[in-house]
Amino acid sequence: MSALDELYREVILEHYKNPRNHGRLAEPDVATRGHNPLCGDDIEVSLNLEDDVIRDIRFQGKGCSISQASASMLTEAVKGKTTDEARRIVDTFKGMMHGDAISTEGLGDLEALQGVRKYPVRIKCALLAWTTLQEGLDLHAKAAQA
Ligand code: ZN
Repeated sequence: MSALDELYREVILEHYKNPRNHGRLAEPDVATRGHNPLCGDDIEVSLNLEDDVIRDIRFQGKGCSISQASASMLTEAVKGKTTDEARRIVDTFKGMMHGDAISTEGLGDLEALQGVRKYPVRIKCALLAWTTLQEGLDLHAKAAQA
């Protein structure tokens, strides 16, 4: 294993063992749940939004270290951001995981998940929380229009 792989592994394990923003909000404005049948990962993301800003976010679920660590990193990345900013971060992250040549600048710990690209079946694990958040933002946008 290269030194970089080892560093990535450490960051992922650290988030897995000490997940940030773990649990469920008492009164979420939106809550969505995602499931990855390939691996058995299950994640629920709940959000509190105020004037289009993600004031608070929590996740809970079960599954492999990559799915849970990725969810933990996601909550850190989008908390306090506007929904537009959050969507941009989701797009950047998805692009990185799919190997598109876009900058990973500003992704912080999320860069550690690049290492997962070498294991194509695990990419779905890493993306689960992100697609779940995206669904939540879509639901919220629709509700705001209604
Ligand atoms: Zn998984």
